[in-house]
Parts: sequence; structure tokens; C-alpha cells
Amino acid sequence: ASRNFDVLRSPVICVLGHVDTGKTKMLDTIRRTNVQLGEAGGITQQIGATRVPAEALKERCRKARNFDPDSVKIPGFLIIDTPGHESFANLRSRGSSLCDVAILVVDIMHGLEPQTIESLKLLLKRGTPFVVALNKVDRLYGYESNPQKDIYQHLKAQSSNVQLEFKERYEKIVTEFAENSVNVALSNQNKNTDEYVSIVPTSAFLGDGIGNLLAYIVDYSQDKLAERLAFCTELDCTVMEVRSLPGLGTTVDVILLNGTLKRGDIIVLTGTEGPICSEIRDLLMPAPLREIRVKGDYEHYASIQGAQGVKVLAKGLDNVVAGLPLFVCRRSDELEVLKADAQKQLEKALTSIKKKPEGVYVQASTLGSLEALLEFLKSQKIPYSNVNIGPVHKKDVQKAAAMLDRNAEFACILAFDVPVDRDVQQFADRENVRIFQANIIYHLQDNFINYREELRL
Ligand code: GDP
Ligand code: MG
Repeated sequence: ASRNFDVLRSPVICVLGHVDTGKTKMLDTIRRTNVQLGEAGGITQQIGATRVPAEALKERCRKARNFDPDSVKIPGFLIIDTPGHESFANLRSRGSSLCDVAILVVDIMHGLEPQTIESLKLLLKRGTPFVVALNKVDRLYGYESNPQKDIYQHLKAQSSNVQLEFKERYEKIVTEFAENSVNVALSNQNKNTDEYVSIVPTSAFLGDGIGNLLAYIVDYSQDKLAERLAFCTELDCTVMEVRSLPGLGTTVDVILLNGTLKRGDIIVLTGTEGPICSEIRDLLMPAPLREIRVKGDYEHYASIQGAQGVKVLAKGLDNVVAGLPLFVCRRSDELEVLKADAQKQLEKALTSIKKKPEGVYVQASTLGSLEALLEFLKSQKIPYSNVNIGPVHKKDVQKAAAMLDRNAEFACILAFDVPVDRDVQQFADRENVRIFQANIIYHLQDNFINYREELRL
């Protein structure tokens, strides 16, 4: 596939960090919408993407001193709203190059917290470049906000107490990073971005420092990642979500990293009941600076070039498995090969999961949620003997029933965000297999732990 260094694609950006550091707020502020309040249980469960076009970036970055808006060559940012590091790990482990730059959010009042350190390790392991947003600077005692200003100039204009508190907290956090073998420096003082990770003080809440953060990512992407961002014709497209919409039927939201999708393209995807082959009827993208999940108007496209978050309309997408690639069939003799490939992706993903001879049966709607659930079970020392993706069928119940002879406590299915038909439930009742169902992962965990305690009485 040919690469063109004159045409850069948008870098794909992920936001990671400990719970409550302000990841959702950061995304909201960048896209100026309010998704945070609409999330199920306040937890970011599903993956969405926001594209921030170059014009919007220039406007925000103007606030950073020494930033030249005319230097912007990338068409914008594509920001992924990750539901935490699990989905990130999961997408990355499939060999997807999905995240180009990460924003690691740290609460200046709390420093490095356990999930921050986990995210940090993951970023280092994957070699993903990242910038640290030292968030909630507005909580420094006596801090006066001004989101219009360059954050470094603005910090200098604060009272001496604020400056002192900033310095103390900043230095403590530098030490905490050093303890994790990472050298950090404030982005305006960082002369060597290969050796030192940059930190930008921010208030996701009030907007202070966001211009500096975005400006840093623009400069870094163009200076250090140009080769990686050079547009490539080879298709690199991952299904992030499968969703059913009134009037549109079941659609898939994809991240098109590289290459082009066109109306009329024959696509091949992985399904829970076998490979799915369909024709693209339409390609939709939300209006700029709006989140793909927020209801609103879509713009229609005949053809879209990466990197973009795209909603694909086609028939027969009901059973598509999220988290895996979408292929385009260019020649009819490729079709069978691509179908076999698509199905192998799921088998590979499921067989790569290490299972125990005795344990519960786990079933989820997506690979991302499955893996998040398995992480939790591991941390709780709950073994699992089998896993599956998609609706619970009788054959799943039969497999789970095999535990009745071994360890009855495990003769159950933890079903996350998947349908269980009434006849399947009746079958399970007859077979003495318990099915725990939930749409929020934490509810499922609570239900199961209650059940386990019940049995131990
Ligand atoms: P997440 O769990 O990392 O997604 O964190 P949220 O974005 O949900 O934020 C957690 C809480 O911190 C919310 O109550 C936010 O309003 C608050 N918050 C986020 N960013 C800031 C900030 O910059 N300053 C202050 N004071 N509060 C913030
Ligand atoms: Mg959140």
C-alpha cells in the first residue's frame, strides 16, 4: 500500500487514568457537550469517538503561547472515549494500532493512583506516546481561573500561595513518576520529548490549560508521528460498537484508521453466528465537535477516508461482534478468504483466553466487555471455565450444566448485556443452571457475589 507524507490523517487519541480524575469532563470540555450526565451509572461503558476538526483545534490552541495556527497540517483529532484501560488493552492486543497518542489524566490533588499506574504500565508496554494532563488545578487554594490564557503565563499570575502549592504538588508527582521509571517535565520546559514525558496543567472543569494540551498534541503528532500518520491506502478499520437505531436498523460504529470506505463496498465482518457479508448502504458522520453517541443529525457521505469515526449502514449487521476488524472485499475471489479470516478473529480471541477446568460460564455482548468482566473475576479469584460472545443459547446452558457434576456452585452463566430468550431461560431452569443478567457490569458482579455467599451459608 502506498503512503503519502503530504497527506496526514488525524491522530487517534485515547484518554486514560484513574476513576474520577476527570477523563469524561476532559472529553466534554474538548468537544463542549455534556455526555457525562447521560452515562449509565456514571460509568463510561461504551466506546464513542469524537472528531475535532482542524478549525476547532486552531481556535482552542490559539490560547497557547507560541502556537502558530498556520502550522496545523493534520485534519483534526479523532478522540476515543475509552471505558478505561481494559478496552484499550483489548484493542491493542489484537494488533490494532488504534491509539496514536494518549492523554493520561492525573488529579493534581491525588497524584498517581492505582489505575493511573496500571494505565502507565500499559502505555509503556505498548510504546504508545502520551502526555499527562495534571488536572483539577482549579482546586489549588485561591486559584483564579482564566481559560482564555496560556496556562503557564496564567500560573505565574497567581498568588504566591497558589504558586507554592502548585510547585509542591507538582514536585511530588514528578517523584511519583520517577518511582515508576518515567521522567516528566512541564510541556513548556521539555526540551527532549523522547526522554521526558510532558505534563500540562489543566482544569477540565473550567477549561484552563486545554488549549496548551491540544497544542502540545498537535505539535507532537506533526513532529514525531508524521510517518505513522502519513495517509495509507491499506484499510485499517475496527468495529467499536454495534447499535440499533430507530429508522436505521442495526448499524456499526467503526474507527476507520486508514484507507477508504465507500457506499456500495462489500464488507465482511465477524458475527456471533458466523461471518457476515453485506453491502454498505450509507456512511454517516456526526456534525463536527459532536459525539457519535449523542442523538443528533448525521451527515451522509458517499466515501470516507481515515482517520474517522464512522457509522456504517448495511443490512444484516445484528450479530456483528465489536472489537474486531471490518474488511472490504475488492475482488469476488477474495470473499471466501475474508470470511474465513473474519471468523478466525473471534476464535483466536476466545481461545487466547486462559480458562480453568472448573468455573463459571461467562457471556458478553462484546469482546471489550467480556475482557473487562474477566479482569474483575480474576481480581475476585472467581474461576471461569468457558466464555462466549452474543445471546445465550441452549448450547451455552448445556456447557454450563457440565459443572453440576463437578462443582455445582459454578453451574451458572454470567450474562452481560446479552439477551436470554424465554425458552432458553426455561431450559436453564430445568437444567438447574442459574443465569445472572445485567447491563451494568457492576450489577452483575454484585449479583454473583451475593449468590456465592448464598451458597456458602
Ligand atoms: P472520570 O471518572 O475520570 O471520567 O472523571 P469525571 O470526568 O467523571 O470527573 C469526576 C468528578 O471530578 C466530577 O464531579 C467532575 O465534575 C470533577 N472534575 C473533573 N475535572 C475537574 C476539574 O478540572 N476541576 C474540578 N474542580 N473538578 C473536576
Ligand atoms: Mg468517566
